[in-house]
Amino acid sequence: MDLSVVVPLYNEWQNVEALFYKIDTELQKLFLAYEVIFVDDGSTDITWKVIEKLKKSNPKLRSIKLRRNYGQTSAMVAGFDYATGNIIITLDGDMQNDPSDIPSLLEKLDEGNDIVSGWRKNRKDNFSRVFPSRIANAIISLTTGVKLNDYGCTLKAYRSECIKPLNAYGEMHRFLPALASLTGARVTEIPVKHHPRKYGDSKYGFNRIFKVFSDIIGISLIIGFSSTPLKGFVICALPFILLTVCFGILSGLSVMLDWTSGKSVFFMVVTALNGMAVSHLIALGVLGELVVGTSDLSHTKMPEVTKKTITMKGDAE
Ligand code: UDP
Ligand code: MG
Repeated sequence: MDLSVVVPLYNEWQNVEALFYKIDTELQKLFLAYEVIFVDDGSTDITWKVIEKLKKSNPKLRSIKLRRNYGQTSAMVAGFDYATGNIIITLDGDMQNDPSDIPSLLEKLDEGNDIVSGWRKNRKDNFSRVFPSRIANAIISLTTGVKLNDYGCTLKAYRSECIKPLNAYGEMHRFLPALASLTGARVTEIPVKHHPRKYGDSKYGFNRIFKVFSDIIGISLIIGFSSTPLKGFVICALPFILLTVCFGILSGLSVMLDWTSGKSVFFMVVTALNGMAVSHLIALGVLGELVVGTSDLSHTKMPEVTKKTITMKGDAE
């Protein structure tokens, strides 16, 4: 299989059929062996029924139904596990992404990239969505070192060997390029089209802003310290080390200079508490090193990423 298109769907029944035919029409032009994987993320409407009906007349459509609503990241990961294509394309199920951008994504992959991310340069969402997203993109680019204008765009193309081993969970789907870059994956982006949502509602409310920002902190820490946890814990311990030294000196001085015993006891207690914080943090760092050393943290230890190229037969002819 050359290509798998993975689409997460949560209560998108009005979009399913039109989306499938749009994807199918675009992919037929490429003369590649492809499959379209619709992942129903525990929809409570008739999304699954529509998928089942479509499948009867379209063998290229494969589908997974999750037992409950697990969230977009888990839905996408379920699709990745199921996908058999050398290349995986993801896009939203609400017709905001345009499947006609797929050929450009593939061309960019063929140039030697491992992940090509869509950039909704002319985004059709309102300002209250676009503005926080701009800030988030700037922070993620800065903290992860992978500079993209639009992390939030689901329309992306991945070489499957770069994406399948990643342990994505929570709301991590936005950060997959940054996580994959840990393995040496080459990431780039190209402008893509974007349309306003016609049917159904956005599945995210205002609290997405808080979720995304807390994820940014989490991801930055994972990227910064997942292969060197002790370093991270030592950095956290530095202020406590400083306090231990300062209060240790004060304790010594207070005993030597015969200050009132109350003050000496206070300094000693503070020294001991800070010392305990230091030893706990360092012990956690050592444990972290043991975990990294013994476990299969694939996002830190993936073998060399191969750069297979695909040829669009339509072009060759
Ligand atoms: N989605 C999902 N599970 C969820 C939330 C969203 O599978 O819990 C899907 C949704 O059906 C859509 C895509 O993820 O296909 C993006 O969601 P949405 O369009 O609501 O996000 P927005 O465009 O508002 O960022
Ligand atoms: Mg949308």
